Amino acid sequence: MLIAVTDLSKQYHRHSALHRVSFSAGPGITALLGPNGAGKSTLLNILATLLEPTSGQASIGGYDVRRYRREIRQILGFLPQDFGLYDGLTAYEFLDYMALLKGIEQRRQCVLQALEQVGLERDARRRIATFSGGMRQRLGIAQALLSTPPVLIVDEPTVGLDPAERNRFRQFLVQLGASRTVLLSTHLVEDVLLAADHVIVLHVGRVRFDGTVDELMRSARGKVWSARIPRQAAEAFRQRYAVTHLVFEENACLVRFLSETSPDVESEEAAPTLEEAYLRLIHSTP
Ligand code: ADP
Repeated sequence: MLIAVTDLSKQYHRHSALHRVSFSAGPGITALLGPNGAGKSTLLNILATLLEPTSGQASIGGYDVRRYRREIRQILGFLPQDFGLYDGLTAYEFLDYMALLKGIEQRRQCVLQALEQVGLERDARRRIATFSGGMRQRLGIAQALLSTPPVLIVDEPTVGLDPAERNRFRQFLVQLGASRTVLLSTHLVEDVLLAADHVIVLHVGRVRFDGTVDELMRSARGKVWSARIPRQAAEAFRQRYAVTHLVFEENACLVRFLSETSPDVESEEAAPTLEEAYLRLIHSTP
């Protein structure tokens, strides 16, 4: 099932949060990557029919988000960024309550199935207050999966998780993406590397890149350099170039940095990392 966005813009009073955003996302995991303030939540909230765009179109499975809210809510599971859980309830009680709000029939069956899908079936009777960050996020996904939607949108789900939890959660997302269209927003390049095939980079409300992870990496070929410079030159070097890595050695520093053209210091071209390719996109725009 396809998410299609064409020329979508959103103004908050005079502030432009999205500017003529266009992309499409099909089955598998598409990462929406961008720094804080890029417009990711605004875009996801529009897709989830919670926010009206100022202009342009967006549709899910062919349903326009403005005209077919009810249909969209039936095919879409959404995990917003600030997702409130009721700590006093057990996981089962919470999902049962969410299923009630969503008007789901055969609640018991749906709740048990959602708990199983996120691997929390053994914790159904535990109070949410005792859950780890990763378990809470999985429970958030469980509520999004209650109506077995073919499309899942998750807003920055790895924020607040420790590195091990984050890793497990990414693997879990990969499993979900095997049979669904998943749009995952994140500001972490690692999330993209470990979970996504398709990546859209959003920066200051505009799409800066749309393609595969490999293509993003390749886009920085010939633009990343490494050099050995005297220790005392490090600060001046930083002011001149966008330094991506810096390691101090005894009398020198090893630096990796971005430059669109051959730098005027002795340096070697380096194979770009995904992080560097992303930084280059962000760096080259105001
Ligand atoms: P992200 O999710 O990438 O961090 P957001 O979509 O939350 O980005 O925000 C994009 C921009 O829009 C930011 O500059 C933010 O301050 C602004 N913004 C978000 N929500 C509102 C709002 N309700 N009113 C005014 N400005 C907003």
